[in-house]
Amino acid sequence: MLVDKLLVNIFLVFVPLLVYSALSDHRHMKHAPLLMGGVLGVSSVLCITFAYIWYGLYWDLRYVPLILSVLYFGPKAGLLNITVMVLVRIYVGPESIQVGLLSMILCYLGPFLVRKRFMQIKGMFLRVGINMLMSIWASMVMLIILLIHSWANGKLDKDEIELIKIIFGFGVIQFLSVGASSFWMEFSLEREEMRRKIRQAERINTLGELAASMAHEVRNPLTVIKGFLQMVQSGLEGKNRRYIALALAEVDRAERIISDYLNLSRPKIGKTELMDLSGMVQQIVLLLKPMATKQGVRLYTELRNEIYVHTDRNQLLQALVHVTRNAIEAAEDGGRVYITLAIQEEKACLNIRDNGKGMSQEHLERVGTLFFSTKEVGTGLGTAVSFRIIEAMDGSIRYESEPGVGTEVTILLPLAQESLLAAEG
Ligand code: ADP
Ligand code: MG
Repeated sequence: MLVDKLLVNIFLVFVPLLVYSALSDHRHMKHAPLLMGGVLGVSSVLCITFAYIWYGLYWDLRYVPLILSVLYFGPKAGLLNITVMVLVRIYVGPESIQVGLLSMILCYLGPFLVRKRFMQIKGMFLRVGINMLMSIWASMVMLIILLIHSWANGKLDKDEIELIKIIFGFGVIQFLSVGASSFWMEFSLEREEMRRKIRQAERINTLGELAASMAHEVRNPLTVIKGFLQMVQSGLEGKNRRYIALALAEVDRAERIISDYLNLSRPKIGKTELMDLSGMVQQIVLLLKPMATKQGVRLYTELRNEIYVHTDRNQLLQALVHVTRNAIEAAEDGGRVYITLAIQEEKACLNIRDNGKGMSQEHLERVGTLFFSTKEVGTGLGTAVSFRIIEAMDGSIRYESEPGVGTEVTILLPLAQESLLAAEG
C-alpha cells in the first residue's frame, strides 16, 4: 500500500511540471505566479488526498510542490499553494491537525527566506542543490515537531524510535523527488530562455534588414543637404555660420549612424590592400585627437613598424575608430588611452587600453551585442559593428574590464602573407 501511494504521489508531483512545460510554449510562465501557485497547490492537495496514513500521521510529498512554487514562482505562488493546502487539510480531518499546520508554515518559511539568494544564483546544479537543501529542512521540521509532540504527550517509547526511522526514510524519498523535479524545472527554464533568444534574434534580423533598406534611401538626400549646407556656410559670418556648422555636425552624425546600420546587416570586405598598421593607428589618433582634447583625455601610442595586414582599409578604420572612441568616452577628464601595436601568436596585435570607468561583469557579457548601450545618446551600434568587421577579417576581438579601473581591448588580425610583401617589394 505504501508503495502504491508513494508512486501516485510522485506522479502527482510531476503533473504540474508537465503543465508548466506545455503552457510555457505559449506564454512567459515566470510572470504567472498565481496560475502556477494554483496548479502546484492542487498538486500538493492531491498529494494529501492520496497520503499514506501511518501512526496517525499523513505521509505524502506535499512539500515538493510547495518548495518549487516558492523558489521558482515567488512568495505569492507559495502563499496560494499553502492556503489551498491548509484549507484542504482542515477539511480532511482534525487528526494531528496542529502538527500538520505548523509544519506547513515552517516548510514555507525555509524557501521563502532563501528565495532572494536563489534568484541570483546562475549555476544549475547549485540551484538544484538549494531545492534539495530545502527538502532536508522540511524533513527536519517534521522530525522536530514530532519529537516535541511526543515529548509534550510524555511518551517517547520504542514506537517513536521506529517513527524516526520512517521519517528518515521518507525524507530520503522527498529529497530525491525534489532533486528530480527541480532538475526538470531547470531544463524547462533553459529551454524557455533559448526560445526567447531565438525569437529575439529573429526580430533583430528583420529589424536589421528594414533599417538597412531605409538607411540606403535616407543616405542620398543627406548627401544633398550636406552639399548645400557647405555652400551656404562659405558665404556666412558670425552666428549664422555657427548654426550651419552645428547642422553639418549633426548631418555627419546621422551619416555615421546610417553607415553603421548598413555595415551591420552586411559588413562586406571590399577592396583589400596591403598596409602598415602603425600608419593606420596614426591616422586614428589624428582623427580622434580633437575629440580627446575636448574631453581632457590624452592619447598615447606605442607602435612597432612594419606590421602588415592585407585587408579593407575603410572597414578596419571604422572598427578601430569605434573601439578607440569608446575608450575616450569611458575615460573621464584627465584620463588616458594607450594604443599599442605588437606581434602576438603570429598575429598583428592591437591593444587599446583606457583607465576609464570600466564595465561590470554583466555589461562585459553584453558588449558587442546589438543596441547595447549605457550612454544617454548612445546607439549601441559601434561595438556590434566592430565585432562583425573584425570577425569578417578572420580576426578576433576581446574585452577585459574592471569597474573603476578601466578597459582593455585586444584585437588580433592575421598578418599579411610573406609572398604579398615580397611582391610589393
Ligand atoms: P555606444 O557607444 O553608442 O553606447 P557601443 O556599441 O560603441 O555603443 O558601446 C556599447 C557600450 O559598451 C557602451 O555604451 C559602454 O557602456 C560599453 N563600452 C564600450 N567600450 C567601453 C570602454 N572602453 N569602457 C567602458 N565601457 C565601454
Ligand atoms: Mg560607441
